[in-house]
This record gives sequence, C-alpha cells and structure tokens, in this order.
Amino acid sequence: MTTIYSPLKNITRIQPKYQKALKKLGLVTVADFLFYFPTRYDDFSKIVSLSSDYLNQNITIEGKIIKTTNRRIFKKRLTLTEIRLVDENDTPLKAVWFNQPFILESFKVNTAIRLSGKLDLDGKIFTMANPSFEKVTREKTNTGCLVPIYRETTGITSKWIRWQIKLLLPYVEQLIDPLPKKLLKKYKLYHLKRAILQIHFPSSEEKLKIAQKRLAFEEMLLVQLRALQIKKEWKNQKSFPLKTPLDLINTFIKDLPFTLTAAQKKANIEILKDLEKTQPMNRLLNGDVGAGKTVLAIIASLQIISAGYQVAIMAPTEILAYQHFENFCQSFKNYNFKIALLTGSNKILNSQKTIQKRDDLLKKIGLGKIDLIVGTHALIQKDVQFKNLAFVVIDEQHRFGVAQRAELQEKTLQLKNKTPQTIPHLLTMTATPIPRTLTIALFGSLNLSVLDELPKNRKPVKTKIISPNKRLAVYNFIRQEINLGHQAFIILPLVKESQSLTNVKAVIEEHQRLATEVFPEFTLGLLHGKLKPKEKEKIMQNFKNNQLQILVSTSVIEVGIDIPNATVMIIENAERFGLAQLHQFRGRVGRGICQSYCFLFSKINSLRLKALEKTNDGFKIAEQDLKLRGPGQFFGTIQSGIPDITMENLTNIKLIKFAQLEATAILKHDPFLKKHLALKDSLQKFSENIHLE
Ligand code: ADP
Ligand code: MG
Repeated sequence: MTTIYSPLKNITRIQPKYQKALKKLGLVTVADFLFYFPTRYDDFSKIVSLSSDYLNQNITIEGKIIKTTNRRIFKKRLTLTEIRLVDENDTPLKAVWFNQPFILESFKVNTAIRLSGKLDLDGKIFTMANPSFEKVTREKTNTGCLVPIYRETTGITSKWIRWQIKLLLPYVEQLIDPLPKKLLKKYKLYHLKRAILQIHFPSSEEKLKIAQKRLAFEEMLLVQLRALQIKKEWKNQKSFPLKTPLDLINTFIKDLPFTLTAAQKKANIEILKDLEKTQPMNRLLNGDVGAGKTVLAIIASLQIISAGYQVAIMAPTEILAYQHFENFCQSFKNYNFKIALLTGSNKILNSQKTIQKRDDLLKKIGLGKIDLIVGTHALIQKDVQFKNLAFVVIDEQHRFGVAQRAELQEKTLQLKNKTPQTIPHLLTMTATPIPRTLTIALFGSLNLSVLDELPKNRKPVKTKIISPNKRLAVYNFIRQEINLGHQAFIILPLVKESQSLTNVKAVIEEHQRLATEVFPEFTLGLLHGKLKPKEKEKIMQNFKNNQLQILVSTSVIEVGIDIPNATVMIIENAERFGLAQLHQFRGRVGRGICQSYCFLFSKINSLRLKALEKTNDGFKIAEQDLKLRGPGQFFGTIQSGIPDITMENLTNIKLIKFAQLEATAILKHDPFLKKHLALKDSLQKFSENIHLE
C-alpha cells in the first residue's frame, strides 16, 4: 500500500524519467512533495469580462474558441500558435503562444476555455501572450485563482508540479499534526492538513496568510525546541571551572593602553563568570567592527593560562590569524606564555616568531608546552591534539556560515581532553551586528554579550556616495591624506567570492591603472583571493608597516584587519552589496584617532546606500539591511538548510516570542516529549536537516 512516506517511485503516474529531476529538487517521498511549498503565487483570481479597464493587469477570462491556427515564421524561426475567442459579451480576444505547436491539440473550436494572463491590446483587438489555459469544466488549478509557482528544474515545470500535488493531496489525510491541539486553539492556527491544502491551492489571499502563519509557527517552535535542547545538552557537559585571578586580571586591565568601554566591562564580567562555572561556556560576543572584542578574548585567555590550561583561537583567514597571533604575543609580552601560530600554509610560528616544524609544534601542543595557539581551520584537523584545552575562541564566526559553524562546534566537542566528557569553554565572536530578533530566532541556544558601544576615541567614519564622474576629486583627496602620512584602501569587491580568473584579471588591471596613471608617486599593493597565503601576508605586513600607501583589494579584506593609520576607503560598485557588508568594509578605517572617510562609488543613485551616510551604528544598519533584503540575503546562508518560511518569519517578533514561550512550556512539563510524540518525531527530522548552534 502506498502511504505518505512511500517513495514517489510507487506512484505509477510519475514516470521513471522524472525521478532524477525530482531527486534534484529533494523530492523522494510523497510527503516531500506535499511539503514542497510554492515560492510565490500568480494572482489570477480576478475572473472578468474583457474590458480596457484591465489592460496590463493579470486577469482570467472565459470564452468560446472560434478559430485556431499554427503558423511558422521562418525568418524568426518561430512557430506561433494562435486562437481567437469571444467572451460572454462577444468581445474578441487573440491569444498567442510561441514555439509550442503541440498545444494546438488542446484547443477545439466551439468549446469553452479559461485563460489567465496579462491583458494587452494589439490595434483594436485584446490580446494575451503565453497565457495559462484550462477547460472551463475543469477545476481551477492553473487559471482563475492564486496559481502557485514552484522552484523548477529542467524537465519539471510548475504546471506539472501543480498537477502532481493536486493528485497527491488525498494523502494529507495520513498526516498527524505535530502541534498540540491546545496551541491550535490558542493561536487560531489551521490544522496541518488544512494548512498544506491552502499553501498549495489557496482559496483566498487571506487563507493563504493564515496557512503560512501556521507553518511558520511550527517551524519556529521546532527551532526553539531544538535550541532549548542544545542549551540543556550543553549544560549537562562538564568543563573547567577556573576561578578568576582578580589581581592578575585587574593589573592587566590597568596596564592596557586604553580604558575598557562600559560595554566591554560588562561583557568581560559575563565571560569571566562563565569560565568559573562547571558547565562549559557557550557565548556569542556580538559587537560592531572595532568595538574591541579581541581584548576580551585576551583577558579571558589570561584566566585560563594562569590556571595552567591551554587556549585555542580560530580565525577564518590566515591574515586574521596572523594578526591575532601578533596581538596576543604583544599583549602577553611580559608574561612567560608560550604562544604559537598554526595555519594551513605551513606557516608555523612560536612566540619568538621563528618558523617551526609542524610535527614538532604538534608534539609540544600535545605535551602542553604551548599555552595558546592561534590558527585557521588547520586547528581542527585530527592530528592536532591538546593536552588540556580549556578555552576555544572562534572569531568572526559569521564568516563560517550557519552549517559550517555547527560543524565547528561539533569539532569543538571533539576537541576533547583526556578527561572524558569534559569540553572546553567556547566563545564565538562576530562583527556582524545581529538584530535582536534574529539572535533570538537563530541563536537561542547561546548566551549573548553585546558590545553596542565603540571606544570613545573613535571618530565616526564620514561616508559619502560618489557618482563615478567625481572620481578625480576623490583621488585628489586620497593624495592629500597620504601626503599627511595616512594610508588608503581601494576596495574592488567581487560579487561572488569565488574570485574567478576573469574577475581577478579585472582587479589586476585596475591596480595597474591606479598605480601607473592615477597614483604614480605612491606605492600600491594588491590583494586578492588567488594569491598564496604567504604573498597575502607579506602585502598586509607591508601595508601595516606603511611601506605601501594604498592597498587595492577585493573583499578578502573584509574581516577584522586592524590598520589604524588607514583613513580613507573607496568602495567601487557599492550598489551591488548589502548594507551590512559595506559597513564591514568601512570598518577597516576609522580605527585610529584621526578622522576617516569612506567613499561609496555608485553609478546608481541608490537610496539604500544613504543609510550608510547617515549612521555608523552597525546594529541600526543591520536592522535596515534585514528589512530591505530579508534574512536569507542578510545572512547569505541560503544554503544553510533553514526553511524559506522560517527565513521570512525571522523578522516576525511576535511569532518568535510565542514560539519561544510555548517551547519552554512544553519542555518544562514534558522534557522528553513523551506526551508529544508527533512533535518529537518532527523535531527529530528537523534536527537532522538543520544545524543550529
Ligand atoms: P573588533 O571588535 O572589530 O574585533 P578589535 O578587537 O580588533 O575590534 O579592536 C580594534 C582596536 O581597538 C584595536 O586596536 C584595539 O586595541 C582597540 N581597542 C579595543 N578596546 C578599546 C578601548 N576600550 N579603547 C580604545 N581602543 C580600544
Ligand atoms: Mg575582530
């Protein structure tokens, strides 16, 4: 017997030739198909008589066919299928289709037909090009309603999907609703069956909204349940309770060349308190670019190392790892700590910055002779074994992507020490200010510290949108700044980070032009993703030492690089980027005491970019970006496995709050979901498909 969990192979109507394409869309079982939701709808629900009132609108009309033809237009290599019909008032309409000669068979003179499409006028006669059509006697599926549009692939059209899903609909009867009845009632939600029916074939806009709300609520409830479970699992783990060495820490803070901001102080206490607990810390430090996150990781490391344990700092790029390495070495220069750098490019250094053999270093790490190790992904390779790792810091963790991040965290769990079941404390840091709603929705399992304040000595970066014909004026401005001893960035962002060769070629050419035609008197460096890590580091180092006055770079510059002497930045093609990302770029300047400037070159007079002129507050910009582009784009994690519906509703605070409330209540009374078996089942499937921290 075929059930909702049977493979689609069992449905004879779906021929074997479709199986491969279906699989590509992730459709294997009947249930997969029913849960394959439309991405949008064409609104053809307006059924009218022909009238010029409806010109250029999407409408549906019903009429009688009076003539049908197929014509070939040799010059254009086209076949044109044309039918003429008249509606109830005898008003004529001409409908045409291109290159689908076979559809002529669908049209019989003197029969009634329903057409949906955009109404146009050709001379005096109404026309429709490529309308959807259906016999009037048929149920409204492709015309005359809100018509669902699905993600398609070669050989699989939305029309075909519609037809299949309609025939599979009876299987919804087998669905058990995972949501408790009480909740359906309390929030006036549709039963799952009804929601599925309405999401595919909505009987009205209003009912569609209710169906979407219901499905989003379920997703969000699962997200929250999972987050709470992870939080609990995390709490059941053991870590290293290390008492804060108050004198040591206070002295260290006093000796810093600056005073901590109030936000830093607060976060610092939160972190150090976590380190005293027997449960492992799982904390996200969220602060704008330049808010001073690193120093907090340094202070926490002091607590760990002084207790005799090891620290691992992981950064997404070599440049950043190297910068942290230098930073930690510098900060601990008066302490007798052994610090090392481990990256993929065989650049393995010890505190004296001399190169070491990888094997030797690994041996030392295993013997506990290294206190603190900074690195890239290379740190989580199998052969890296610590003696007593008690603290892991993941910097710029947003760069790792949701899925990858989860993997990192799992790896962190594997970075187990000799003591069984004891895992290191974990601090993740991100410079993407994440709007409050999103943190609740996505990072519910983490504790959160927020640095919503920049150090006082910072002057906000002055930002201006520049149309490319004002280029020269900006180049002259850069010249002035450099003559004052400052440095400049020119960012040539690539749309995709794939850094294809043609892209890189364009960047190389632009660098050449700038170096020879615009700034022949200065030394320019070039940084792009196709360079070897060693070359990159050399260039960064030269820029840091002010041997290069201008750094031309692709988006590899994006993260965490700290060059206080750089005061000007140009970003080319700014309109192509999200506000949050531009704000990230901009954060490379304005890190010193002098006034800094950011020029956004943009051909398009984009209103969106104005937000950057107006504010330097990363949290505000993030909110704006989220509103404009939606959470999927905002996070750039379309592949993350977070369902579309959830993504859309990530900004719906009320929904998230209610889901959180109910998830907490459910787990409080029924921690193992013994009384919520359907929900438990859904949660199981959900957890397999999605990774949250
Ligand atoms: P981010 O939060 O972007 O990682 P960093 O930790 O790299 O920022 O800090 C940026 C710069 O600000 C560093 O040079 C750091 O030494 C400095 N800094 C950190 N905290 C303060 C502070 N409270 N006052 C002044 N400068 C600070
Ligand atoms: Mg940083």
